[in-house]
Formats: sequence, C-alpha cells, structure tokens
Amino acid sequence: MDFKIAVLGGDGIGPEVTAEGVKILEAVGRVFGHGFSLETGDVGGISIDKHGTPLLPEVAELAGSADAVLFGAVGGPRWDDPAAPMHPEDGLLQLRAHLGVFANIRPVKVYPMLIESSVLKPEVLEGVDMVVVRELTGGLYYAQPKGRSETPQGWTAVDTMRYSEGEIERVLRVGFELARGRRKKLTSVDKANVLECSRLWRQTATRLGGEYPDVELEHVLVDACAMQLIQRPSRFDVIVSENTFGDILTDEAAVLAASMGLLPSASLSDVPVAGRRTTGFYEPIHGTAPDIAGQGIANPTGSILSVALMLRYSLGLTEEAVSIERAVEQVLDAGARTPDIFAEGAQQVSTAEMGDRVVSALE
Ligand code: NAD
Repeated sequence: MDFKIAVLGGDGIGPEVTAEGVKILEAVGRVFGHGFSLETGDVGGISIDKHGTPLLPEVAELAGSADAVLFGAVGGPRWDDPAAPMHPEDGLLQLRAHLGVFANIRPVKVYPMLIESSVLKPEVLEGVDMVVVRELTGGLYYAQPKGRSETPQGWTAVDTMRYSEGEIERVLRVGFELARGRRKKLTSVDKANVLECSRLWRQTATRLGGEYPDVELEHVLVDACAMQLIQRPSRFDVIVSENTFGDILTDEAAVLAASMGLLPSASLSDVPVAGRRTTGFYEPIHGTAPDIAGQGIANPTGSILSVALMLRYSLGLTEEAVSIERAVEQVLDAGARTPDIFAEGAQQVSTAEMGDRVVSALE
C-alpha cells in the first residue's frame, strides 16, 4: 500500500529523533512492501527563523493532506522571550487545531530490562502496561471567559472549565475502544464530588458503559488516581480524563518509565476502531532537550514507537506496528542503551546506532 506521511522534525533534538523514526518507517516499507512518500516541512523555532512564522499555511496544508504526521518537538531558549510576538509552540497548537485531534493517547509500558533504571521501586513497577487518554481540545485551556481584569481590590483572573456532552462522549469512546482491544478495563477520571463538568463526565461515562458491556468501567477521583499511579500503577489498563487532569496525569505516568525518551504518543481526530483509518499526529512525549541537542545522544525510542502507533491507528497496519514494538524490545534486551538509560554492563549507543539496531532487528 502507498501512504503520504508529513515529517515535521521541529527544533533541538526533534529532527535527530525523527530521522530515526523515518529510518524505521523506510525499513517497514522494505520488509512489508509498502510505499511511504515522505514530505518534510519546517515548524516551530526553525520556521520563525526561516519564514517569520511558526507555521506556514502550506505546511499546515501538507499535514492536513497527509495520511499521518510524524512530529518531533518545538521550542528552545532562543525563542523563549515572553515579549516576542510569536513562539514556536504556537505552531504546534495551530497544527493540532488544524487537524482537529481531540484525543491524546500515551501508552506507558515498563520494560523488565529497564526496571532498575526507574526512580520507583522495581516491585511497584512490575507488570505496568497502561494507556492514558487525555482530552486535548476542550476544558479549562480553551473555554471562555478567560483573562485578567483590574478591580479596586487588585487583579482578578478567570479561566473557565466547560465541556459539552459531545466533547466528553467522543473522547470516552476512544477510551472504551482502546480498552476493548486490551485488558478490557477502563478507569474514567473526574472530580465529580466538586465539579459540575465532572458530574456530566461521569454520567456520560456511565451511559456509554451500557454500550460496552464487555469493558469493566470504574470511576476514580483525580486525586485518588494521582496517588494510585505511584502506589499501584499495574492496576491500570486504560485511563481516560479531561484536558487539565490528563495533562498532569500523563506526565506523572511518564515517570514510571525509565526515561522521557522512551515514550510515544498519538493524537487522533476520530475514535480508533479496528479496520478504520484515522487522521493522526504522532510525536514522542518529550520536548526539544536543548541540553543534549546536536550531540547525537538523544534516545530515539519515543519517535520510533510513535511510528508504530501511526501504523496501528492511522494506516491500519497492525502486524507492522507489532513488529516495530518487538524490534525495540529485542534491541533493549540485547543491552543497547542511549546515555539516558545507560547502566553498568550495557553497551552505550548513539541516537543513530539505536535506530540502526532497531532496523536490523526488524529486518
Ligand atoms: P524536555 O523533554 O525537552 O527535556 C527534559 C529532560 O529530559 C532534559 O534533561 C532532556 O535532556 C531529557 N530528554 C528529553 N528527551 C530526551 C531524549 N529523547 N533522550 C534523552 N534525554 C531526553 O523538556 P524541557 O527541558 O522542559 O523543555 C525543553 C524545550 O522543549 C522547551 O522549549 C519546551 O517548551 C519544549 N517542549 C516542547 C514539546 C513539544 O514540542 N511537544 C513538549 C515539551 C517541551
């Protein structure tokens, strides 16, 4: 089959890790006989420097017309001035809005061979294999009114949490569908003891649960969820939550893995159903890591596993996705480690060597 993929590396280590993701995509093409037509574009700081804007309309169009987008990361100290008229992150937000990706999916798996590298105790981490689904385009970050005003008593600020039933339902469906393809357990996170949005969220989750009798649904308050993620993370299969709670919980869940560099993500514009292709935006969860950029030592695993998610959710190539995930495990099992996950007795490899080893394992 032939696919068009937009490749947007961005800034810092973004292009370095994305190059390894592309290597793997090309290897999948060779091994399984698919054609990937790769089209590149600038986004973020590099686009500000070259074109005076973080996202050119033609790059947004390229992303919109592709079967999927492979993204690196944007940002860095040289574009950080708060008074600057534009920032690299604007390009990322515009792209997500342009693609209408409302569900962010982050699988978090603790590999047995890396269990000792985590900051948590090995016995807590055994068997951790979960997916966190975060609503990405609604709630507190977007709803109006929002802003600051000066009053006789001093400044006042307001943000609004607002969700429609439709927005809640579509992201909950993503959670139910993912759970259906896994261990069939869905944890719906809310703060229904206090927030009206959460009460609507819980009611909607309970109603949808009737359509998914094969999935065990539980409701957990966000504060309890934050605690259980550290105390007993292996109890979770799929977690689904609104935007702000999800932002915090996904970063907490990422700590369970040994390094930020290991974790992929997918942002989808539709509910993933087996056999149906969904527009998606795929990126490692980390940022541009200015402290290690340009040294060839970044861990490309997050980008490589993002390619696996792309094959699974946007291109309908499940067997190919599994083969990438197996190849990564094989390479880690054989002891190859970038510096972020290095331990005594392992072989230290560069970003490119890590990619090459995954290609060899795949082939
Ligand atoms: P970061 O994720 O870039 O880095 C945090 C730490 O993790 C650093 O020590 C870094 O060296 C390490 N790290 C990250 N990815 C790694 C990898 N693949 N291999 C090895 N080590 C890795 O977060 P930050 O330092 O808070 O942010 C740096 C810049 O990235 C900022 O400008 C921020 O705005 C931007 N950022 C962008 C995105 C995005 O584009 N989606 C996300 C987060 C941060």
